[in-house]
Amino acid sequence: MKINDYTSDQIDAAVSAAENIANDWAQSSRETRARLLRGLADVLQARRDKLVCVGDDETSLGSVRLNSELDRTIFQLRGFAEHVEDGNAFAVSDDPAIAGAPPLGRPHLTRVRVPLGPVAMFSASNFPIAFSVLGGDTASALAAGCPVVVKAHPGHPQLSREVFELTKAVLTQQGLPEGLIGMVEGAGIEVGVGLVRHPGIAAVAFTGSFKGGTALWSHANSRPRPIPFYGELGSTNPVVALPSALTGNAEELARTLAASMEFGCGQICTSPGLVVLFESADADRFESALRDALQSAKTHTMLTPSMKHNFDAGIARLVATPGVQTVLAGESTNDDHASPRPVIARTSAQNFISEHALHEEVFGPACLLVRVQSIDEIVEVLNAVGGSLTVTLWGAEVDSPDVRRITRCATQIAGRVLFGGVPTGVAVTASQQHGGPWPASTQPFSTSVGYAAMDRFLRPVALQNPPAWLIERVGQPC
Ligand code: NAP
Repeated sequence: MKINDYTSDQIDAAVSAAENIANDWAQSSRETRARLLRGLADVLQARRDKLVCVGDDETSLGSVRLNSELDRTIFQLRGFAEHVEDGNAFAVSDDPAIAGAPPLGRPHLTRVRVPLGPVAMFSASNFPIAFSVLGGDTASALAAGCPVVVKAHPGHPQLSREVFELTKAVLTQQGLPEGLIGMVEGAGIEVGVGLVRHPGIAAVAFTGSFKGGTALWSHANSRPRPIPFYGELGSTNPVVALPSALTGNAEELARTLAASMEFGCGQICTSPGLVVLFESADADRFESALRDALQSAKTHTMLTPSMKHNFDAGIARLVATPGVQTVLAGESTNDDHASPRPVIARTSAQNFISEHALHEEVFGPACLLVRVQSIDEIVEVLNAVGGSLTVTLWGAEVDSPDVRRITRCATQIAGRVLFGGVPTGVAVTASQQHGGPWPASTQPFSTSVGYAAMDRFLRPVALQNPPAWLIERVGQPC
């Protein structure tokens, strides 16, 4: 499918249309926003078969995965509708005036939040529905009261256009201007750069590579007026297997991990890329069972030829690093459409810590097993990772100083710490946190999944001694 390369005039038109509606949408009621979010969910539901079919042709993700992604997208659009109806976009904190001299005496202060304005939203390649045109970033920005200009991902152009046409129909049906949700396409980086640098854009939401994300982030920061850049850049998602977890359960845990690695052909930001485990017979059993499970894994063509190319390059880098042994070798072909074979490698804690190349994410079905000798080494390995969307702890059920130490370290480097289970699968809920310290994301204080994602696009303002008419709006911008 040919990608349309939008000109700077077309980008300008999309952003200008978003700017024109920005004030009206910021002032819109909770009912208006909820109606739009529900209307978008309904139209996705109504066109499910067509969207799944087009999406499968472009991404090879398969109808089971795409149907569940569509379920999730519909769920989160409706969830944001409820979140807005509950008044969360208009939450205020109010301190009545106290007569007298400061510091006890004070004026009346009401803290409200105002929408930032048009958001540039970069669709993710690996979630062509749930983090694309009408995905979580778009839903949260609309809920916050911000128009959106989508940068379509070139990995699924036809699906993006189909969803965008449905979007336009819903806007028309609800009497809303088309500019509320715009879309631009580009085969090269110029369109994305032009969008981020456009003076009318007030914030950016991005999911993708470290390289692309940091390039766009620096554009956001070097504008005459820098803007917030919410980049979700990827992660190695360490899994720490404490000895008590593996005893009697090594094979079962290995099969569970293999299924998590296989999911989406490993093209998932929470895919487990690192397992930390003590040198032991149980660890050997775990490793053999993981190799057996992945040897027969059914993978599929990767999302784009460049992703396959990056995966092959990442594996070549991994296995060529000194001190790394291959446990399950991949299969190198020059065919970018070939299904990649999962790869497992092994190294020691000290080698992992000293070899910085091993800290990089290999996007796809690959996992590095790091053998440790002590709790100190587990902590050192996690600190070497530095920042991750998730850390999973197996065997931390019983309180002890060591367990507390590892838990503390995990919470310092990750946005989400799991006690058991696997990191793939990110629930859409109010308590979710999807975003971790650098290099997992550019803004570790925010989340790109769950209802708190809306907060990224709302800026706090304190109203001092506000007049009665403004108080009566109860946080709804004027
Ligand atoms: P990407 O290369 O980061 O591209 C994402 C978006 O950013 C695209 O719209 C792309 O525009 C734009 N972009 C990339 N580099 C840019 C630059 N230097 N300047 C301006 N815009 C730029 O991600 P991808 O295409 O989805 O996949 C490539 C790699 O990213 C994967 O192999 C994987 O390593 C990683 N990735 C990670 C995650 C994650 O969640 N961790 C998700 C997806 C991908 P154009 O396409 O128009 O150039």
